[in-house]
Amino acid sequence: MTDEKDNDRHKARMQEQKAKVDERIAAAQEDKGLLLVLTGNGKGKSTSGFGTIARAVGHGLKASVVQYVKGGWECGERNLLEKHDVEFHVMGTGFTWETQDKDTDKLAAQAAWEHSKKLLQDPSIDVVLLDEITYMITYKYIDLDEVLAALTARPKDQHVVITGRACHRSIIEMADTVSEVRPVKHAFDNGIKAQQGIDW
Ligand code: ATP
Ligand code: MG
Repeated sequence: MTDEKDNDRHKARMQEQKAKVDERIAAAQEDKGLLLVLTGNGKGKSTSGFGTIARAVGHGLKASVVQYVKGGWECGERNLLEKHDVEFHVMGTGFTWETQDKDTDKLAAQAAWEHSKKLLQDPSIDVVLLDEITYMITYKYIDLDEVLAALTARPKDQHVVITGRACHRSIIEMADTVSEVRPVKHAFDNGIKAQQGIDW
């Protein structure tokens, strides 16, 4: 049996916590388009990015996706979200880990970036997902300063989600919300194949 004193103490603690949270909610007054970064070596960056798109679309917002790295498999999120008027742009020749042709990859990355820039200038798009763009910056296929400039100049209310490992620190500095996904375990390390619906 929970003793009454214990219960009272719990209640008081909860009330105190609620007061603190309410105070912070009341203090947050600004509305603005957010820059979100999902980085790190663990699994869950792209799924989180697509989850944000699904959330936005569920509220009637208009969203668009640019995929900078095309996996070997069809993309489950694309199958779903295209039915909900989310436009996808998948990088031309499809940069994958198997491609070895730097020039072709660079051209494809730049074409995807040209498309991304148009989205970042379009006030009718509420949310833009730039999936795996961090690698294009790391490989210098697209210019970091141009990315920073386009993000800065975008419509004030437009949200942007960036995913990929090793996000450049300047983007992290500019971002409003940054999460780093840390790998604790991954099934693949135990010889388990990538699973449809979970891994792609
Ligand atoms: P997801 O798309 O599942 O959210 P992610 O975007 O965080 O993953 P990426 O680095 O883009 O991770 O990798 C894409 C693919 O690689 C996914 O199929 C994912 O399951 C797998 N993967 C992610 N992290 C790891 C890891 N630490 N070890 C092995 N495979 C991984
Ligand atoms: Mg990913």
